[in-house]
Amino acid sequence: MSYRLSEEQEMFRQMVRRFAGEKVAPRVTEMDREDHLPRDLYEEVAKVGFIALFYPSEYGGSDADMLTCCLATEELCRVSTVLGGMLGVAHALFSSCFRLSATKEQKDKYFPDVISGKKLCMFGLTEPDAGSDISSMRSKAILDGDEYILNGVKNFNSGMDFADMTLIFAKTDPNAGMSGISTFIVEKGTPGFSHSVTGRMLGFRGIHHCESVFEDCRVPKENLIGKEGEGFRNLVKVMDEGRTLTGASGVGTAQGALEYAVRYAKERIQFGKPIAEFQAISHMLADMATMTETARHLVYRAATLVQDHSKESMKLATMAKYYATDVAMKVASHAVDILGGYGYSEEYPVERMMRDAKGLQLLEGTNQIQRHAVARVLLA
Ligand SMILES: Cc1cc2nc3c(=O)[nH]c(=O)nc-3n(C[C@H](O)[C@H](O)[C@H](O)COP(=O)(O)OP(=O)(O)OC[C@H]3O[C@@H](n4cnc5c(N)ncnc54)[C@H](O)[C@@H]3O)c2cc1C
Repeated sequence: MSYRLSEEQEMFRQMVRRFAGEKVAPRVTEMDREDHLPRDLYEEVAKVGFIALFYPSEYGGSDADMLTCCLATEELCRVSTVLGGMLGVAHALFSSCFRLSATKEQKDKYFPDVISGKKLCMFGLTEPDAGSDISSMRSKAILDGDEYILNGVKNFNSGMDFADMTLIFAKTDPNAGMSGISTFIVEKGTPGFSHSVTGRMLGFRGIHHCESVFEDCRVPKENLIGKEGEGFRNLVKVMDEGRTLTGASGVGTAQGALEYAVRYAKERIQFGKPIAEFQAISHMLADMATMTETARHLVYRAATLVQDHSKESMKLATMAKYYATDVAMKVASHAVDILGGYGYSEEYPVERMMRDAKGLQLLEGTNQIQRHAVARVLLA
């Protein structure tokens, strides 16, 4: 086990950091205030190779290892949790689900446009009555000749208004529990598939939370990903990557908040000296840095285990998700404290970081559910 990044990985990190500083940072405040993700910025992210990281080289991807994907995600999230976290996780889930189960024809059809940034596929798992308890999902897919007929509702189908298609999970055998769930890809514009943006969320502004409705929506048989009943298997596998990257998003968000708080504490004068000289503030900064560094190590460790398909990967990826996103929330909240009243103002970025950190704790399965999963492994 190596405790240091290679020279190449460090150079890569610096490259992403430069890109995030030059192209993303100037637009983050506007994205948050306007609740808008500019298409051209997404295309820039694709052009610089961020999306390609997640995809196989035979389709124009760069087949990066998990640690490299985490480094890129972390550096983008240091500046924008929306761009790095939400989009990184969306690509990781789509790519890994397709690599695991899709046919060559399906990959040929979708990968090139997704890698180039022309198209985007989101993830439709959660339903109004099936959040943490996936097994209670009601969406159904019934085979009728050469087509499946889909009926159901998915909520929190993030970014569906921006995206071109979604993976959806539906029951092909309602009596078979988790083994009755299958995965489909559904393109926007398919008759019977509609989506609407639901209310404004606390954070992740720019990516809208959508409700997708399937009403007698007919999709060709070829839109089934893998075999019938493999939906839960797909999920379990792809979530190791999704959780690790969500952890990396937490580390990046925490790092961004920490750096801002350090700068502010050195500049803000009260009682005739910089507030950084008050022990209450300097010790808070020390704790923030220590938590962030601890989370980073856990995420990198999870990334190497997930990459190696280790039997420990699920446990570590789950720990990384909840630990690093809890750290992001604590660090961003301390950053708000350090900025005092200004921290609570939209004029400063730390309140946005705190709102986004809260979203990281909830998406990809809440942190309560992650702890439950780790405990189950320990107690098995
Ligand atoms: C920013 C954001 C983006 C999202 N993006 C997507 C997306 O793109 N696609 C998608 O499918 N979903 C997405 N989600 C949905 C997310 O995955 C769910 O919100 C999450 O899984 C929880 O489901 P729920 O909201 O229905 O809460 P519930 O399952 O109703 O949980 C409510 C509370 O009960 C707790 N709880 C439930 N069961 C247990 C248990 N057994 N033990 C302990 N505590 C428990 C939960 O931890 C939580 O605190 C997103 C959510 C957010 C916030």
